[in-house]
Parts: sequence; structure tokens; C-alpha cells
Amino acid sequence: MSFSKLGLSDPILKAVAEQGYQTPTAIQEKAIPVVLAGKDLIAAAQTGTGKTASFVLPILEKLDSTQKVRAKRVRALILVPTRELAIQVEDNIRLYSKHLNFSSMAMYGGTDLAPQKQKLIEGIDILVATPGRLIDMVYQRAVYINELECFVLDEADRMLDMGFIGDINKIIERLPEVRQNLLFSATLSADVRHLAKSTLHHAVEISV
Ligand code: AMP
Repeated sequence: MSFSKLGLSDPILKAVAEQGYQTPTAIQEKAIPVVLAGKDLIAAAQTGTGKTASFVLPILEKLDSTQKVRAKRVRALILVPTRELAIQVEDNIRLYSKHLNFSSMAMYGGTDLAPQKQKLIEGIDILVATPGRLIDMVYQRAVYINELECFVLDEADRMLDMGFIGDINKIIERLPEVRQNLLFSATLSADVRHLAKSTLHHAVEISV
């Protein structure tokens, strides 16, 4: 299997090749076609399996790079449990989108609100955020998440373990009815499945 067989276009294939990736990992092979088809996805995958690229690459493929994001809006939202993961996922987005023209941002707590608010003014194509800081920003009307196209819950089990369910539910309430949902989790516990049931629609389930 090669990346070019997965339905990704040249700017993304070029970035992937420049990273030195030769073949897709198992999760990438299974998840990328599902995401490109516009379906919801629930995936059991550990860190280290290449799961980040399995959602970032098809999201980059699906977003229309000729369309401009509106002020204070986001087009894709990736929720993550920690600041470290937010930074890491956003670094990956930058790498994989280097031949495309998208804006991205990592947003997390424990830092000043003002610079993050400033960055949101023109809108952000792909926002990676921790739940608490995002809900603060939503309540302050610094960002509007009600027009997004794609919503990702990354490391869902860790987010639940860290007690983020209340914030996650507040975020989900603000999302548009029609959207694509992707959920990644190391384990598909009963709590994760419960969250998936209230968030995803007719999701395809995969595990690696
Ligand atoms: P992740 O599971 O997303 O944290 O990714 C783990 C590591 O695998 C990261 O350092 C990626 O750069 C790397 N990686 C992702 N996809 C591939 C691939 N297809 N081939 C080789 N390395 C990869």
C-alpha cells in the first residue's frame, strides 16, 4: 500500500514524502479512506501508531483551500487533553500542510488569553485546543465553533480520565448539527462508547 492509493493529492503526498514516510501505518490505511468519504469514525489506536496523520491528512485534503475562513470562526476543531499534545498535533499540521495554505493554532490553558484572542480574530482553519481553554474562549465570544465542518476528539479516554466530560459536553452543544466527527482513543471503554454515542452518527469503527 502506498499513500498515493489512499486518495490524497500532490501537496499532501509531497509533504508526507518529505517526512520520509514510505508507507501508511495500519491506522492510516484504515482511517484515511473513511474520513475522506465524509463518514464519522471511532478508532481504537495508541500513541505511536501514526494516529495523528490518520486524521490530519484527510482533514487537509477535505478542507477547500480556496475558501477563506470567516472572522473568529474555525473550520476544523481538534480537542486534546493536554498542552503538550496540542503543541505536538499543531506541529504535525504545519508539517503536513506546508504546501497548502491553511492557518492553524494550538490553544491551551495556563497562558495569557490576549495573544490567543488576537490570533483568532481573522479565524483559524484548524484549531487544536484543550477543552477548558476553548470553552473560556467560546464564552468570551473570542471564537465561534458553530460553523465548523469537522470535529475531532483525540485521546478521548485520557480526556475523560482528566475530568473533561463537562467541558466536552458544553463544547458539543455549540457545534453545528451537520458536521463530521472523529473520535480516537487508546481504549474503547464504556465511558468512551457513551461519549461516542452522544457525539457520532453512524460511525465506522476501526481498531489497530
Ligand atoms: P502518532 O501516533 O501520531 O503520535 O505518531 C507517531 C510517530 O510516527 C510520529 O513521530 C510520526 O511522525 C510517525 N509517523 C506517522 N506516520 C508515519 C508513517 N506512515 N511512516 C513512518 N512514520 C510515521
